[in-house]
Amino acid sequence: MDYNRLADLLFPSVTKTPAEIEEEFPRRNLPEGAKVTRLAPSPTGFIHFGTLFPALVNERLAHQSEGVFFLRVEDTDSKREVEGAEEDLINTLAYYRIEFDEGAVAGGDKGIYGPYRQSHRADIYHVFAKQLVREGKAYPCFSSEEELEQLKTTDKKAEIQNKEWHTDEAEQRAQRQAAQRSITYEEAEAQIKAGNPFVLRIVALGDPEKKTPFTDLIKGSLQIPENDEDFVLLKSDGIPTYHFAHAVDDHLMGTTHVIRGEEWLPSLAKHIQLFQYLGFKMPKFMHLAQLMKLEGNSKKKLSKRDKGAALADYKAEGYPPESVIEYVMTLLNSNYEDWRRANQDADWKSFPFSIKKMNTSGALFDLDKFTDVSKTTISRMDAEKAYNGIAEWAKDYDSEFSALLERDADYAKRILAIGRGGKKPRKDLAKWDEAKDYMSFFYDELFTNVDSYPENFEASDIKASLEAFAESYDPSTDNNGWFENIKAISEKLGFSPDVKLYKQSPESFKGHVGDVSGFIRIAVTGRQNSPDLFEIMQILGYERTIARVKAAADKL
Ligand code: GLU
Repeated sequence: MDYNRLADLLFPSVTKTPAEIEEEFPRRNLPEGAKVTRLAPSPTGFIHFGTLFPALVNERLAHQSEGVFFLRVEDTDSKREVEGAEEDLINTLAYYRIEFDEGAVAGGDKGIYGPYRQSHRADIYHVFAKQLVREGKAYPCFSSEEELEQLKTTDKKAEIQNKEWHTDEAEQRAQRQAAQRSITYEEAEAQIKAGNPFVLRIVALGDPEKKTPFTDLIKGSLQIPENDEDFVLLKSDGIPTYHFAHAVDDHLMGTTHVIRGEEWLPSLAKHIQLFQYLGFKMPKFMHLAQLMKLEGNSKKKLSKRDKGAALADYKAEGYPPESVIEYVMTLLNSNYEDWRRANQDADWKSFPFSIKKMNTSGALFDLDKFTDVSKTTISRMDAEKAYNGIAEWAKDYDSEFSALLERDADYAKRILAIGRGGKKPRKDLAKWDEAKDYMSFFYDELFTNVDSYPENFEASDIKASLEAFAESYDPSTDNNGWFENIKAISEKLGFSPDVKLYKQSPESFKGHVGDVSGFIRIAVTGRQNSPDLFEIMQILGYERTIARVKAAADKL
């Protein structure tokens, strides 16, 4: 067979050579040790929380080494294409501050190694495809779509079963491949003339009995069996498969480290073969374990339908991006939490991220732990930042609350300043959609009585406490003076001004000072628990405080 003729028959319009393409993608001039990494998501319309794992690892390794991190959109699967998915992907990554030096940006590209969307690179792939045909390393396969689909499922099944793959199936495939490979020039020409589409397959001469030693940066030393499957390089529409496209792209774009999900590990044999056939130097590979969840006592993959899997939900519920990143970092590096304790205000990007400290088995997604991390993250924000986060969230998700926040931003910030800034800041909020409830009693429009008064007290005593407070509240005193006043009210009404004293002889009192301030708290905030009552009253102001206390007393 004259492979050159076959190559021209299959790719008549491809005139460039691989060497010419190489010239268009010059070697990168980077300092010694600089890593070039990429995030290569497929815009399917669903962004998994797990996307942040390769995103952060890639970003950190590139930027910690003065390298380059780029975004490549792998949009070769037109069947999975979803309107707006790419834009959503780009915006979401920006929302989490995943900073790319190069790559696909809204409506275009940034950088000289583009196009950064695989759907725009067909011409490039075809040059390398043609070269493989010329060298007898790839051949056309003219089969109908259905036939191909069928083959794909058989091969997939075989791949899944892997080791137990029955010899007869292997045999069948070998026979099928042999028959397909032996296509003559004349047969191919007749098919092309008839306008029949073809897929381009690799000639896989590997022997699965033979193993190639391979070092994965996370999994360590592996033995990869050689590939003997004539997998598809180009689909019948001329669009490449992931295998082929990523090999060409990672080579031309100068990727030094391919960091991706471990679901690609079974395809590694194919990739090794492809890089060899194409004469490309293999980058280093790191296969990240999948994110797991606990179901009963066993670990399961965090799949699309599980709570916590959709990144969009985090934004909708109002988890600040900082919290999400913080949590991912705690899962990625075992020493991150210790570092954070010692560097409370530092940007997460100043953490010395290390491959060695990575979790090699699947990290466990734990909503309680995440909630805890988020509470701590929010508690460390200043009131301004918390306000901005809440206001931003409310704009999209709660217009009523948004209007209240914007009506008086300073007022909202004073509310949010309660209990912030000290050594032990309050941890009231895990996400912004909890803020409305938390802040509600500061707004007359939202104020309601959530809790009622404890039943073990006489209504007349509660009423008397409230009236006494309404008469004596002096907003100009400090927290101490304010509390002294409540103590005095307690004493006057037969409640102990001192909790210890009360505990020594409860029968001598109606209750204690904590109970009295509890009545006032319920009257002012509508709840049994709230942040510091003195501060709340300061923010509400004298008029509103007194009005609430009086209204509550009148109801008793
Ligand atoms: N498009 C592939 C995916 O989304 C990329 C894998 C890779 O990073 O190479 O799984």
